[in-house]
Amino acid sequence: LKWSTDNVRKTFIDYFQSQHSHTLQPSSPVVPLSDPTLLFTNAGMNQFKPIFLGQADPVSVLGKLKRATNSQKCIRAGGKHNDLEDVGRDTYHHTFFEMLGTWSFGDYFKKESITWSWDLLTTVYGLDETRLYATYFKGDEGLGLPADEEARDFWRQYLPDNRIIPCDAKDNFWEMGDTGPCGPCTEIHYDRVGGRDASALVNADDPEVIEIWNVVFIEFNKDEEGGLKPLPEKHIDTGMGLERLASLLQNKNSNYDIDIFQGLFAKINDMSKKGPYGGLVGEDDVELRDTAYRAIADHARALAFAIADGAVPSNEGRGYVLRRILRRGVRYGQQILGCERGFFEHLIPIVLETFKEAYPELKAKENDIIEIIRDEENAFSTMLDRGITYFEELKVELKKGGRDTVSGSEAFFMYDTLGFPIDLTELMAEEAGLKVDGEGFEAEMTAQKDRSRMDRKMKKMGASGQIILELIAEQTVYLAKELGVEATDDNP
Ligand code: ATP
Ligand code: MG
Ligand code: MG
Ligand code: MG
Repeated sequence: LKWSTDNVRKTFIDYFQSQHSHTLQPSSPVVPLSDPTLLFTNAGMNQFKPIFLGQADPVSVLGKLKRATNSQKCIRAGGKHNDLEDVGRDTYHHTFFEMLGTWSFGDYFKKESITWSWDLLTTVYGLDETRLYATYFKGDEGLGLPADEEARDFWRQYLPDNRIIPCDAKDNFWEMGDTGPCGPCTEIHYDRVGGRDASALVNADDPEVIEIWNVVFIEFNKDEEGGLKPLPEKHIDTGMGLERLASLLQNKNSNYDIDIFQGLFAKINDMSKKGPYGGLVGEDDVELRDTAYRAIADHARALAFAIADGAVPSNEGRGYVLRRILRRGVRYGQQILGCERGFFEHLIPIVLETFKEAYPELKAKENDIIEIIRDEENAFSTMLDRGITYFEELKVELKKGGRDTVSGSEAFFMYDTLGFPIDLTELMAEEAGLKVDGEGFEAEMTAQKDRSRMDRKMKKMGASGQIILELIAEQTVYLAKELGVEATDDNP
């Protein structure tokens, strides 16, 4: 295999290191070291944020860091960049993926970054030029910014006008989070089919025409009020999805068909009662078998990398994102593929084997990762069975009542009592052709928070708090009688 994923990664880094004087700056952990605004590292630029903001000097072991490159471990399953919902259901979004990146810190700008991107893709990787498209920022009144004609004009050297496409801020103004460094970008897209004008399919969520590389011109810092302040220096920040690029170079139509997923799929096949992976997507995947394969393989990678970098599944924040990913994977495995309880941990050794050279830190944490996953799956399995039974009954009940929506309190019961994260309930509802009352669910969540806040306050007060709680409960029952409604014996 000429373009193994390892070779695609290495070729990228070599190109920028040896031909354009970039310094290899290793991937930072997926758990951001010192940025409370971020759940997980979601792009290569995260570790450089203090440099872009002028809070830190770009220094490397070799002196002032002007240009950097690497392959960054990323997770997009929460916060501003959350792809969890798509994962498994499409062929090119993962929760965990690697982003090949290059940076210029106040050094080169638009011209060089566009020139080198084009050269690498077409000359070194040898991608078919006629399948490439570029987008540029078309300007935005709300942001008070004009169109990026400069980027457009650089592209005209390489591409005909019909393959240079103006796009809006949603796609071509890149932001790391709600605040922080940002700027207009130009993106490179690839038509997997070829021999046609595919410009209408760019940025249209079409699996045949996918975005591969984002080249961001970092010029601003967005403040709390949403205002844009120009940065003292202009920077380049680029990111290309390694798995997407590998799929093109390996002539595959799906990221999941590349080399690094094959071991995982073979292992899932060993444990599944549904037969081997068939590559079906969307409505074609009637039994959801292939969706399940993709989701499970993805989630095993995400959990292995996140736990190796110090995250642990839990009830809030980062830990809850991991718990959601694990429960989603376990549900796909046990319910859809008929895998035995405890199947998930068996995927971990395969992930570690695949990445033992690129990311040796994984192997060092093998036992921790497996143990944490074993405990998590164990804890969820009993609830999962009860949840599936409850949901089957609920479906019948809804159908009888002519309802098409799972109510807020039903979704909350699944969350609170059965351990089903809301996105898992939503997914199962969608599979059954149902909706979920998300607002109702949020209201239940708020009510629960209020209750436990009140509880904590009263408990702090000791005996007198307990008496007040009892009085409120009595009062509620009394009022309920007056009103002719039923009072539950929940805490007030
Ligand atoms: P998309 O529009 O496909 O969701 P994006 O615009 O959100 O991608 P960027 O933030 O521009 O992505 O990230 C840079 C590159 O990282 C993308 O061009 C793509 O190749 C890759 N990438 C982004 N999200 C994912 C993901 N969830 N899984 C795999 N690769 C991804
Ligand atoms: Mg995206
Ligand atoms: Mg995009
Ligand atoms: Mg993009």
